[in-house]
Amino acid sequence: MTLITNHMPTAELQALDAAHHMHPFTHGHDLERKGARVITRASGVTLTDSEGNEILDAMAGLWCVNIGYGRHELAEAAARQMRELPYYNTFFQTTHVPAIALADKLAELTPYDLNHVFYAGSGSEANDTNIRLVRTYWEQKGKPSKKVIISRKNAYHGSSVGSASLGGMSAMHAQGGLPIPDVHHINQPHWYAEGGDMTPEEFGLARARELEEAIHQIGEDRVAAFIGEPVQGAGGVIVPPSTYWPEIQRICDKYEILLIADEVICGFGRTGQWFASESYGIRPHIMTIAKGLSSGYAPIGGSLVCDEVAEVMNECDFAHGYTYSGHPVSCAVALENLRILQEEGIVERAGRETAPYLKEKWETLADHPLVGEAKIAGLMGSIALTPHKASRAKFAAEAGTAGFICREECFANNLVMRHVGDRMVISPPLIISKPEIDTLIERAGIALDNAYKRIK
Ligand code: PLP
Repeated sequence: MTLITNHMPTAELQALDAAHHMHPFTHGHDLERKGARVITRASGVTLTDSEGNEILDAMAGLWCVNIGYGRHELAEAAARQMRELPYYNTFFQTTHVPAIALADKLAELTPYDLNHVFYAGSGSEANDTNIRLVRTYWEQKGKPSKKVIISRKNAYHGSSVGSASLGGMSAMHAQGGLPIPDVHHINQPHWYAEGGDMTPEEFGLARARELEEAIHQIGEDRVAAFIGEPVQGAGGVIVPPSTYWPEIQRICDKYEILLIADEVICGFGRTGQWFASESYGIRPHIMTIAKGLSSGYAPIGGSLVCDEVAEVMNECDFAHGYTYSGHPVSCAVALENLRILQEEGIVERAGRETAPYLKEKWETLADHPLVGEAKIAGLMGSIALTPHKASRAKFAAEAGTAGFICREECFANNLVMRHVGDRMVISPPLIISKPEIDTLIERAGIALDNAYKRIK
């Protein structure tokens, strides 16, 4: 067997990768044709690839490396925990100190009375938990017909069968017979693409009221919950109009629908607050968390549950759980990550200093001839690429062609931005400095110029 190391030539690594590694969200032919970019090291906001290129990671991996790369304290926390208790489960009335300590810390950090956590290994698993949890909750309450979960088109809630069904990504539903029954999708609050002549505020209200219409159509006695990301991330960093969430909250209260805020991206500082629910006027019964919980250093997710729902669930033996629910190493890493976020005031600094600076610079990109709008919510931002600014027109070519070209130009300039159709998105580590933001904007500008030349 070949010994595979960082020192192998890139082409050989890529050939082995294409031969044996099936990648998520990647076309197999692209791997064979071009090979994958091989990342070998990272520090702060900078990735190094196998060719020695230093790349500014404006996506924090997959929206997750909130404290930045290279924090040895987390590696040490993992090693300590592996030596002491590398694994034990939390099934059948057993527990361990890292799971207890993290649950206690989460109860302290999270808003409202979200005082209980059901651990999972990822955001997808946590949303699968939520499907079973809300349906079991209503069964316990003597209302077993309340099964339907209402979500939004173009939402992203994960990749497992359950969570991808909750999500509203048509390309995902087209593969493998999704969604599962009893999931209903209403339209998203995406004013730029779908708002027509309405003001954003009118549009936000109209889209929220689709929830009420759906409840009437499906029947109040059949609806269990509504799920939404405070700011849609993977759908293209879609910041909802200010009228949207208060109206959703009003409707959930009126019809006693459980409200699930999926804060897998938004949580732990991404929007400049610890949790976005507070700033968007959302009082969730359940909050999904993952990503920033461990800054991606170890896989972990969870469902935070409010007192009332937990009390009902504690009346039954919830036949649900994952081998890695509350994995001790992941819990220890998450605890260390939260300690650093808190003690170094990273979230507060991101909200107070970094977010306003990034906003000011990011919005200058709206002047570019290729850009229709620049939106930002804390440290997650998006720009819409358009052939015609005033009409918010879309490109005639297949959606995503302009975005794909722009992403290629970003890579060529050592910048990782992601494209979602013809929207370019960013979500850098929260510790990004002002000079690094300047570099990000400069490279994004060059990428836009180059993309413009190719698209025109
Ligand atoms: N929910 C949201 C809002 C997400 O953005 C994601 C992942 O991007 C998930 C859930 C799924 O999380 P995971 O990839 O950890 O399963």
